[in-house]
Amino acid sequence: MATRWAAVAGPAPGPPRVVGSTALGCIAGAQALPPDGPGWQAVRLSRNRGWGHPALVAFVRDLAGAARARGLPALWIGDLAQPRGGPMPYGHASHQTGLDADIWLDLSPKQHTSAAARENIRVASVVLPDETGVSRSHWQPGHATLIRLAAEAPGVDRVLVNHAIKRELCRAHAGAPWLRRVRPWRGHDAHMHVRLRCPPGEAECRDAPPPPPGDGCDASLAWWLTPEARQPAPRPPSAEPPPPLPAACAAVLDQRR
Ligand SMILES: [Zn+2]
Repeated sequence: MATRWAAVAGPAPGPPRVVGSTALGCIAGAQALPPDGPGWQAVRLSRNRGWGHPALVAFVRDLAGAARARGLPALWIGDLAQPRGGPMPYGHASHQTGLDADIWLDLSPKQHTSAAARENIRVASVVLPDETGVSRSHWQPGHATLIRLAAEAPGVDRVLVNHAIKRELCRAHAGAPWLRRVRPWRGHDAHMHVRLRCPPGEAECRDAPPPPPGDGCDASLAWWLTPEARQPAPRPPSAEPPPPLPAACAAVLDQRR
């Protein structure tokens, strides 16, 4: 199923329309993020995952501009969504509705880079191997600036980062209201994942529950260093088939351009 979604080269026509949720949904009328713009270069263009709701494309453009205005170097932009969203054959469970973007946490100065070279860029983790904190040789104040800019941007639901990054932000900025939207997760040690809320007027779009109140610098963050979190028990195989995509997504997939 995912391979069919990945095989469609372009968006479904018409106005933007988000159906379902980020882990089970699709989008019609998606816009392409230009591969280059003021303050950004998109990477791994061959994947054709640079599509999103116009609100997401505007978010990336505005974030790159705001970062540039703060003196940060150009951003590498990773995956947004496939042209019609939907499940991906590899790489992500979410990113299905054109409301998620991966922004790499790389603050090195960048030359204009060819599409071929952008296929193979490697970015160092900013997190220590044991994930107790950030690496002092890789973490920079500019990383916090960039994450904060994303978390404070209008329409942002949450920013997912490695729990060690959240710990560092809690150490330096405890109590800051924007920390509520910065949520700890596994991985995400070399990129942040930004998710937008359903844009206004998107009646078929389903948001996740909002993050709990508070800055999140609490026991829920400490949990990530417990043995339970570090060595999760293997999940028993489920007898249930995976839930189907919303019915409207079948038409989005098949719509002629
Ligand atoms: Zn992501």
